[in-house]
Amino acid sequence: MDKKEVNQGIVYLVGAGPGDPNLITLRARELIETCDVLVYDHLANRRLHDWAPLSCETIDGGKSPGRHTMDQSDICKILVEKAQDGLKVVRLKGGDPFVFGRCAEEMLALDKEKVSYEVVPGVTAALACAAYAGIPLSHRDFGSSISFLTGHEDMAKEALRVNFAKFSEVGGTLCVYMGMSKLEEIVKKLIEGGLPVDKPAAIVSHGTLPIQKKLLAPLGQLVEQAKENNFLAPAIIFVGNSIGLSRPKTWFEKKPLMGKRIALTRASGQESRMRSALEILGAEVLDLPLIQIQPTEDRKLVAEVFAGIASYEWVVFTSTNGAREFMKLFFRAFADIRSFGPMRIACVGGSTANIFKQYNLDVELIAKDSTAEGLAKDLVATDSLDSANVLVVSGNRNREIMVDVLEGVGHAIVDTLPVYQTDFADVQDAPDLEKFQKQGADAVVFTSSSTALSYVEQSEDIVFEKDARSPVFCSFGPQTSKTLEENELTVGLESAHPTLDDLCESLVKYFSKS
Ligand code: SAH
Repeated sequence: MDKKEVNQGIVYLVGAGPGDPNLITLRARELIETCDVLVYDHLANRRLHDWAPLSCETIDGGKSPGRHTMDQSDICKILVEKAQDGLKVVRLKGGDPFVFGRCAEEMLALDKEKVSYEVVPGVTAALACAAYAGIPLSHRDFGSSISFLTGHEDMAKEALRVNFAKFSEVGGTLCVYMGMSKLEEIVKKLIEGGLPVDKPAAIVSHGTLPIQKKLLAPLGQLVEQAKENNFLAPAIIFVGNSIGLSRPKTWFEKKPLMGKRIALTRASGQESRMRSALEILGAEVLDLPLIQIQPTEDRKLVAEVFAGIASYEWVVFTSTNGAREFMKLFFRAFADIRSFGPMRIACVGGSTANIFKQYNLDVELIAKDSTAEGLAKDLVATDSLDSANVLVVSGNRNREIMVDVLEGVGHAIVDTLPVYQTDFADVQDAPDLEKFQKQGADAVVFTSSSTALSYVEQSEDIVFEKDARSPVFCSFGPQTSKTLEENELTVGLESAHPTLDDLCESLVKYFSKS
């Protein structure tokens, strides 16, 4: 292989699937994880970008109806240029690249410039919508052909391209992409062409996403009911006899938090487990980080603490952040876990304790009520603190009460080691602020007092639009509830314990009642 060939870039025209990130192929994921440039469109789920390497350049090639951010020739030009620079480019397209995805134009442009490319298929919207909405597309007795049609191919081109009256004769199952802006005309043409008004039909909008909506109606009533129920693009229109076999509610539509929009206020990068747990339950999750967490390190103090590490009887962790940062510093100072010495470990909750399980370190105490105060009380109750050296590893907030109790009641000798700092994050930088203000949410989850305080401080910068849903405030535990209430915010629900499972259970219970 000569040098020129080695340095040649390549473009992957990749199907992102219909919306649910789990419907992407393994090949697509592998390519996203290793690409240099990612050119995406709006139908490709934003979560997929998180898989790209940090060094990857992301380019918005999206063309949402009426708002053309980049035209097709610009996109083709970028693909060609980036590949000619020797880069590995992923062109990520909603659904399948070959189904109304303008892939042909891009292939031609790449061929013309002799740029290598590969095409990776994806789950196209019609198939995915049908599956998630329980709409069979074929049946042995009625429905032996399936057609994919398009209402418009380009918003700029007014007229319908497809002769819908002719497709009435073809029959079978019709799946219409990009049809919502021309719904009335399409239905009229199909009926004029001979389809009866009682022909089973359906619309699925935002299929496979937590905001999926489905309408089942006879063809003659489709337009009226779609208007009444405010069905919007992106949507697939289905027409055909097998549509009559649709199930009223599928496994997907029955998820307990389906249709609920929940805003998370945790620091960026710390919300992913909570996000996945809520999404599995069907919720739409908004990212509204109100705090940011940064490691801090007083080198002299860290050196002192580690020099005397063998003298501590207890080491106390008030958060997972503290535990994580401490172990990072520990392994920077020592190569061997045996240097941890005989310190007994006390943790505020199960997630913090889990961090030590990775190193086979035993956690002797986990606070019963998962609060810093509770942890201090439980430690005092062990009767082992009198004149004992105790190391409290924490952030820059809420450690005074803990130290007071350990020293004042338990008579311990306490050293504190701050390893991270919590600051308010500017709400204007929140990725989903615009949607939050426009559409509101059903719940806002406050995971700590600092998220609540940050919300209070910045509440003037959060302006809900007229029809936005007004959220219920959900607190992770008693301390956070207290902070919310002290600031005159009503706590609509409180998680029984500050754990992810309990939070999910409280939300499900709350919304099943409302
Ligand atoms: N290549 C894509 C189609 C792109 S054309 C694919 O294979 O799916 C854009 C149209 O796809 C939208 O107007 C809509 O008709 C349909 N579509 C895309 N995602 C959708 C979704 N999640 N739910 C319903 N329809 C969707």
